[in-house]
Amino acid sequence: MWRLLERTYSVAKVEIAEVRCKACGLCVRFCPHDALELANETNERGYHPATQPDAGKCRGCTSCALMCPEAAIIVFR
Ligand code: SF4
Ligand code: SF4
Repeated sequence: MWRLLERTYSVAKVEIAEVRCKACGLCVRFCPHDALELANETNERGYHPATQPDAGKCRGCTSCALMCPEAAIIVFR
């Protein structure tokens, strides 16, 4: 369903507040552009936080931010 609502932008990136991330993986799973992954490293709470290794893949659709239960993601576009 998120694809129906998707609006894309040519230049976009996300900022993830790693300390708030609990590694639920929802943002990774629902990113329609495969732009997110969980890091190998852990944050200070012991979780593997979401990261955006390649900002060039991001299209600013905001699906990740909408899905995050911790409100840890901000989208810039
Ligand atoms: S804004 Fe959209 S394309 Fe960018 S990381 Fe989030 S879900 Fe993926
Ligand atoms: S949805 Fe939020 S809490 Fe879950 S992995 Fe992504 S950034 Fe972390």
